Amino acid sequence: MKIFNPASFAKFFPFYEESASSNRPVYFDNAATTQKHKHVIEVTSNFYQAENANVHRAAHKLSAEATVKFEQARETARKFVNAKSTKEIIWTKGTTEGINLIAQCFAQTTLAKGDEIVLSYAEHHANIVPWQQVTQATGAIIKVLPLDNEGRIDKSAISGVFSENTKLVSLVMISNVVGKLNPIEDIVKAARAVGATVVVDAAQAVAHQSIDVQAIDCDFLVFSAHKMFGPTGIGLVYGKEALLDAMPPYQFGGEMIRKVSFSGTSFGELPFKFEAGTPNIVGVIGFAEAMKFVSSLDLRAVADYEESIISYTHKKLSDIPGLTFLFKGKPDVPLFSFNLTDHAKDVASFLDAHNFAVRAGHHCAMPLFEYLEQGGCVRASLAPYNTQTEVDSFIALLHQFVKSGIEAEGEVEASDVSVTTAPSLTPDEASIDDTTVDDATIEVIERFDKAKGWDGKHREIMLLSKLLERMSKTERNESSLVKGCESDVWLKAHLDDDKHWHFSADSDAKVIRGLLVIVLAAYQNKSCEHIQAFDIETYFERLGLLQHLSPSRGNGVRAIVENIRKVSR
Ligand code: PLP
Repeated sequence: MKIFNPASFAKFFPFYEESASSNRPVYFDNAATTQKHKHVIEVTSNFYQAENANVHRAAHKLSAEATVKFEQARETARKFVNAKSTKEIIWTKGTTEGINLIAQCFAQTTLAKGDEIVLSYAEHHANIVPWQQVTQATGAIIKVLPLDNEGRIDKSAISGVFSENTKLVSLVMISNVVGKLNPIEDIVKAARAVGATVVVDAAQAVAHQSIDVQAIDCDFLVFSAHKMFGPTGIGLVYGKEALLDAMPPYQFGGEMIRKVSFSGTSFGELPFKFEAGTPNIVGVIGFAEAMKFVSSLDLRAVADYEESIISYTHKKLSDIPGLTFLFKGKPDVPLFSFNLTDHAKDVASFLDAHNFAVRAGHHCAMPLFEYLEQGGCVRASLAPYNTQTEVDSFIALLHQFVKSGIEAEGEVEASDVSVTTAPSLTPDEASIDDTTVDDATIEVIERFDKAKGWDGKHREIMLLSKLLERMSKTERNESSLVKGCESDVWLKAHLDDDKHWHFSADSDAKVIRGLLVIVLAAYQNKSCEHIQAFDIETYFERLGLLQHLSPSRGNGVRAIVENIRKVSR
């Protein structure tokens, strides 16, 4: 067996080319999507450049060749999951569409009132919401399997949840938050014993394990190409032929028909009856390339490497003061979900300021966080191109984050900045209308101007966050919640006798509280006319703020501004 070398593995990925290195972040967000293999990029761009034609329709060579490639890809997928026939492989947009297809075409047409669908607390929204729609349409109900203290589906609970009413079981193989392999074999056995149909969500598993649908003995299995080095917008449903055959089509139109007439239309055979319209041809071809790449890997060597990086990272993370993992024990794949002293989004935004890409929040698994009674977590998810050196820098940064939090406490106490009392001062004439800006605003601008780079500005935001007076728990309610922010943000407005507006605001994330201080500095104690006239975009531009925020966070800041302007109209 060859020793796995992450640097050689990285050579397959243009993202890791030397020429692209200067601004490249350390990418620890592989559970969201992986980087793309060079062959995937090559075959997709080559198809568009030299081979482009539609499939299954035109009577010319180019189309015939495109059709052959397209159907060869289906054979690659059949082999990849060990399905019996290519009729069992249906192309979809991804895992989400795959589950929707099964929910609408299978569950909705076969389940009835009182039937039970079994899910677990660790499911992604994609494996919850489609089933909730089924329950509304059919009167079926959802039952939820609990997790053990390591975060795996609790085997001992299966017998108490499954019954003769269990008609469908849809479970995640490896959760995108827990990172542990669920006891799928035991679950399939229990489902078979009560005659239930089994759906497996392999979205996260597919990049880490070989998939054999016959060995798993599931009825359906779904995954997406983009989590295994392939393109976005393409995935597949594996379904047992007899089940797919009995199901009605998913969508209707071209490609999925045998004959169309105003006197009656008949549908095509498998797999085409589920593939209405021009498919994602280039996606399918790129997906096949990704499957070929994964199949070519020495999975044992990759697993050994992953095991070593898991143990190393888990140990190093455990040594960080204040860090808590979501679950006990090491993960089975290199995916680490944890919380640190501050809000998860603050940790992620600190890491982002230091060019590390991780994800923070509820990770499309809100019911899991409700079950754990937690607000979210930071998730660092690694792939085989990630190295121990990157892990070391990551750990050093997290130590720095903890330390800087402690130091910042002292600094803020010493600070004399106040954004709530604010006489007028002249701003930078070049950009801001001086009739609407006060001391506090100027002071914010000055502090930002002095801060060097995004790192410095980010630190400034964190310090400013301490200046925001927190709202009480009762004030933070549905009616004060600002819509359109990715974090929870609450805003209340009050007009004084001089017709000046006063705002209180709060957020669950420190970074947002810092941004709120900046936003409120521009609007606090101002008349309606001033608020409406204030040029906030120039203010942000002058601060060098929005260009550093992610589009969703930038939109969140704008949503706060919109709310302020709306209430004060
Ligand atoms: N299921 C799991 C476990 C996932 O991790 C994801 C994506 O993160 C999905 C389903 C949805 O996949 P997609 O967004 O590719 O449809």
